[in-house]
Parts: sequence; structure tokens; C-alpha cells
Amino acid sequence: PLPSVGFIGLGNMGLPMSARLAAAGYPVTGFDLDPGARARLTDAGGTAVESAADAARGAAVVILMLPSSAVVESVLADPAMKEALAPGTIVVDMSSSEPMRTAQLAGQLKAQGLNMIDAPVSGGVKGAENGTLTIMAGGPDEEFEQVRPLLEVLGKPRHISSVVGAGHALKALNNLMSAAHLWVTSEAMLIGEAFGLDATAMLEAVNGSSGRSGSTENKWPNFIVPGTYDSGFGLRLMLKDMKIATGLAAEMGVPSLLSEAAVERWQQAAEDLPPTADHTEIARWLREKQPS
Ligand code: NAD
Repeated sequence: PLPSVGFIGLGNMGLPMSARLAAAGYPVTGFDLDPGARARLTDAGGTAVESAADAARGAAVVILMLPSSAVVESVLADPAMKEALAPGTIVVDMSSSEPMRTAQLAGQLKAQGLNMIDAPVSGGVKGAENGTLTIMAGGPDEEFEQVRPLLEVLGKPRHISSVVGAGHALKALNNLMSAAHLWVTSEAMLIGEAFGLDATAMLEAVNGSSGRSGSTENKWPNFIVPGTYDSGFGLRLMLKDMKIATGLAAEMGVPSLLSEAAVERWQQAAEDLPPTADHTEIARWLREKQPS
């Protein structure tokens, strides 16, 4: 039989991911603070319970898809959770967390007889729905191999390193690049539009040229040109990831001037936009609101 999965965090990403696992035949027991999210898991074929500890109890694998390291730590530090997690359970943090905190957490869990790997993802809500996420895993071979079949239901697992936290480091770096691309792409697109160029014509040409990126291939054509701004990835979550990356740069003593500047600008937009703003709103904000 397939191993039982406890799934904690049923948001934009966690819900479609847990739904895929349930559809693939994994017994999935899930929890989210939001009762609406719990109801959606039940509709998708999983079992919703009233606490994170109840989701973890009896599970062979516990997956976390939560906003941040702080939330991951608080969920795992709950005494009821500690009591619920059976020795030998593999805890998989698929959130975009902080690598140093993840490494520390893995050490604490080890002392409780628990194994941890980090396996953050890229590919957005669409990738979560379609099972085409790129999964960047860090942690010992043995645990990675144990969860590989499960991760393959969600996308393409890449075992980056045997060091726990390596996936989280790479994920933050990926999003730093992605955020900087989106900002400069948006500035370039606005300059082009002011010059009289058509947005779609520009994107088509750039996508055959060296300026292309996820921003020109996906974010601009799918969420910004149509004006829906509904990628499902929050602007604040993006800013969190950028800060993880520049924090890592500082810790490693690597200069990151342009990256620091990008963080400052995104911070300014985050303060100006509602907390629920999608990260693609950055393009609209640049067009309409950016102080000159
Ligand atoms: P989200 O805000 O949609 O979902 C997070 C969920 O966690 C919410 O449903 C919230 O109610 C729940 N939650 C918060 N605290 C909780 C707690 N203590 N116990 C139980 N549930 C709790 O966020 P998301 O977009 O699904 O992102 C989740 C993680 O994945 C983040 O780290 C994010 O950076 C990362 N990520 C997101 C995307 C994306 O496109 N949305 C892509 C890749 C990675």
C-alpha cells in the first residue's frame, strides 16, 4: 500500500498538491487553519482534520506547505505535534523556508527520532495542479529515495544535495532571479509601450531573443497583458524569498548590490499594495503608482 501522508498547509499550492496525491491513491489527511481550505481537501478526496497534530498522527510522511520558516517551526514545536509524530516519520518541508533555520530544525527533529528533508518547489499554481513542479530537494539519499515516488506525483524531483536546507537555499536564489527579471522586464515593457510598441509583439520577439525569462514567457503574457494579476503567488511571499536570498549573501560574505536594490524596491511596492496582492501586481504598480 502507498504510505499515508499528513499534509499541513492547504493554500494556493498545498491544496492542489494534496489533491494530486489523493487522486494518485495516497491516503491524505490534511489540516489548514482555514476551514474553507479543509472543506476543499475533503471535496478533492482527502480527509480533513481539526489540527496539525491530527494530520500527522499515524502518517509515514508529513508534508508542510506553509508560508514561512516561522510557521513551520511553530507547527512542529507544538507539544501535541511532538507526541503525534511517530519515530521514523519523514518530515518534508516543501514551503519556501530559510535554509539555515531548516538545517537547525532538522537537527532538532533528528533528536526526536525524526528525519527531515527540504523539497521546495517552482512552477506556480498551474504546476501544482498539473503535477509539473520542479522540486529542489536537500537531505540524505535514503530519505530522498523513500519519498521520491510521492514527489514524482507532484513534479520533477531534483536531489540538489545531501545537506538539509540546500533546496531552500536554491529556491530562494531562484526567486531572487525571478523577481529581478520581473522588475526589469516590466520596466522594459513600459518603456517599449511608451515608445509605441505593442506588448504582445514585444514579448513574441523577446521570447526568441536573449532577454527572455519566466517573466516574458509566462508572467507577462498570462497574467499582466490580460490584466488578471492572478498567478496565485503573493507579492509578500516573493519579497520573503528575496530577503532569504540576500540574507544568505550576507551570511556568506558575497556582495549582492543589485539584489539588495531589488529587495528595497519590492519592499516599497509591498508597503504600498494590499497584503493579498499577487506578485504580478508589481507591473501594474510600476505603471500606475511608482513614485518617480
Ligand atoms: P498560501 O498563503 O496560499 O497558503 C498557505 C496556507 O497555510 C494558508 O492556507 C494558511 O491558512 C495556512 N496556514 C498558515 N499558518 C498555518 C498554521 N499554523 N497551521 C496550518 N495552516 C496554516 O501560500 P502558497 O502560495 O500556497 O505558498 C505556500 C509556500 O509555497 C510558501 O512558502 C510560498 O513561498 C511557496 N511557493 C508558492 C508558490 C505559488 O505560486 N503560490 C510557488 C512556489 C512556492
